[in-house]
Amino acid sequence: MRPEILFPYFAALETLPGIGKKTAVLCEKLCGPAVIDLLCHMPNGFIDRRLKVKTAEAPDGAIATLEVRAVEHIPPYSKKSPYKVICEDDTGEISVIFFHAFGDYPAKALPIGEPRLISGKVERFGAQKQQIQMLHPDYIVPVTQSEKIPAIECVYPLTAGVSGKILNKACRTALEKLPDLPEWQDAEMLKRENRESFKNSLKTLHIPETEEDIAKYPTAKARLAYDELLANQLALCLVRRNMRRLPGRSIKPAGNLRKAALNRMGFSLTRAQQRVLSEIDQDMASPSRMLRLVQGDVGSGKTAVALLAMLNAAETGAQAALMAPTDILANQHFEKIRNIAEPIGVRCVLLTGRNKGKKRAEILESIRSGNAGIIIGTHALFQDDVIFKDLALTVVDEQHKFGVQQRLALSSKGGGADMLVMTATPIPRTLALTYYGDMEVSRIDELPPGRKPITTRVLPSSRLDEVARALSRTVADGNKAYWVCPLVEESEKIDLAAAQERYEYLKARFGDRVVLVHGKMKSAEKDEAMQRFASNSADILVATTVIEVGVDVPAATVMVIEHAERFGLAQLHQLRGRIGRGTKESSCLLLYGEPLSETAKARLKVMRETQDGFLIAEEDLTLRGAGEVLGTRQSGLEEFKIADLSVHGDLLKTARNDAKYIVNIDPELQTQRGCALRLLLYLFRKDEAVKTLRSG
Ligand code: ADP
Ligand code: MG
Repeated sequence: MRPEILFPYFAALETLPGIGKKTAVLCEKLCGPAVIDLLCHMPNGFIDRRLKVKTAEAPDGAIATLEVRAVEHIPPYSKKSPYKVICEDDTGEISVIFFHAFGDYPAKALPIGEPRLISGKVERFGAQKQQIQMLHPDYIVPVTQSEKIPAIECVYPLTAGVSGKILNKACRTALEKLPDLPEWQDAEMLKRENRESFKNSLKTLHIPETEEDIAKYPTAKARLAYDELLANQLALCLVRRNMRRLPGRSIKPAGNLRKAALNRMGFSLTRAQQRVLSEIDQDMASPSRMLRLVQGDVGSGKTAVALLAMLNAAETGAQAALMAPTDILANQHFEKIRNIAEPIGVRCVLLTGRNKGKKRAEILESIRSGNAGIIIGTHALFQDDVIFKDLALTVVDEQHKFGVQQRLALSSKGGGADMLVMTATPIPRTLALTYYGDMEVSRIDELPPGRKPITTRVLPSSRLDEVARALSRTVADGNKAYWVCPLVEESEKIDLAAAQERYEYLKARFGDRVVLVHGKMKSAEKDEAMQRFASNSADILVATTVIEVGVDVPAATVMVIEHAERFGLAQLHQLRGRIGRGTKESSCLLLYGEPLSETAKARLKVMRETQDGFLIAEEDLTLRGAGEVLGTRQSGLEEFKIADLSVHGDLLKTARNDAKYIVNIDPELQTQRGCALRLLLYLFRKDEAVKTLRSG
């Protein structure tokens, strides 16, 4: 339960003045549902309104505040012309201009003869720049209400329907009402770094009043960034400790099943696979629980490694489970694994949400009796009625679907089982710490031998016809192709239509050798389409999303990606990894919409020049900054609101050490600082981590 002192921080945005139901919905999209989210929405600039001048002295282009009286109203003489109010002070005239003025707003705002303060951008025109105007003043207030015009106003990243004025006012009033919180940071560190309290830092950022406040912006932001990073690292440390608290077991088989499996696989492991497997073996042999992440490009042989680890468990008579993010992937893992494991005497079962009734009961029984040694499935594996006889290892094929919270939930269900997470998202080392700081990390940084490199070309979408013509040749040679149309969440419908259109277009050329897969299809339909593509009844697969393409079809040698500039590099890399799996040359065509920004150009160039996922991830980080690297929206991975790792990267390491130190000396967060740190965890929504604490 969230402590009471934080209630005002988590109040709904609607409780703030100026934010009604409609605005609240828009604001929520912009920053989140609560007051604290609004306050974590950082300004990215300032408007200084402190310049108070007479009209005669008002500089061209400056933001200024003037005291004037209206002398004449000139309503628009046509629909397109503006409403003009001639105003003056004792030095001259200024025209205040409104386009599309609403009703009698100008007349009310600037009544003839009455003094008003107007604040906005001054523009001078005419031969001698003698004429002055102000277009849509930001503020028009009676002189007695000068406090309504902020001296320095923050500029926020905005969304349609939410003005900077609304956000300024909301932040101001919110900060007036919020209680001070006990300090969770080390007092000496704060002093050394010149940092102020949490609330004062928020004030400096959102309500700057002086030059000094503006100068303090980076320090205040660093304080909050550090808070955010510490919350992140502390949560990971707590989660890790909690997972380790459950007793593990030592699994040390002779390795007979593994030998037999390797024989059946018919290849020898790469050096990277061997290294990672021996790391896993050590973890499994040790009496404490394994929590290990295996990172490796698509096709680097993670699944093979996972299978060999699962056979460890099976050989000792225990069970191993593999959880995949989608039905399609679960199916594919199942087929491959069963092919190796069953002939050597390990029973495999597949459990997905689609198994119902008697079939499901049978599967559940074989899991409960221990008859099934390897269990493969989707989330359905961890429903309450699934009871394992003796689960020793859980493998999660992550595909960016599981965050810390999910890992935590999963591990509590799996009892003391070892846990292995596989991810094909190459994450730069600095970022790995923020997402996977609770786990040991292994990297498979080498591809199995014999892979033909993939040629990557970058083309404008105006050359689409040419691409389709080239496809004809590919298909005639007996190859297959993926054609990916991007799906942008905001307009799923439009994108679906675009994919449909592309499908029709290709069908006109290739007939029914083309299949379409998209997220709105029923699982059975999807499967059928995938099946046709994998077997020999279709040559081209048009797909809207990344996940649907998570399949292994060695005959696929071409990957066309439309609007490649809209994808994250990690995603492009993953998509590209779907080809080049057979013995033939493969090519990837990245089509882009014009105009292409410089950054986008540079990013596509990276794709053209390298196939090393880790290198691509590092390049993406430098080109775009951490927040965007992973295409966070699709990835489900955590995103920082305040910290920017290209600026605050050093703070991350400090936070890491600080968190370790804290958990060492105050593991249940019970000291005075510990209690304050609990507040920090709640503020940054690490409730799951608090729950791992005694009396959490
Ligand atoms: P990942 O799970 O990382 O995408 P997989 O384990 O599915 O990779 O391996 C991709 C393909 O390469 C599979 O067909 C697999 O059988 C094969 N493979 C895996 N390891 C090796 C290896 N050491 N040598 C040759 N082929 C391998
Ligand atoms: Mg795989």
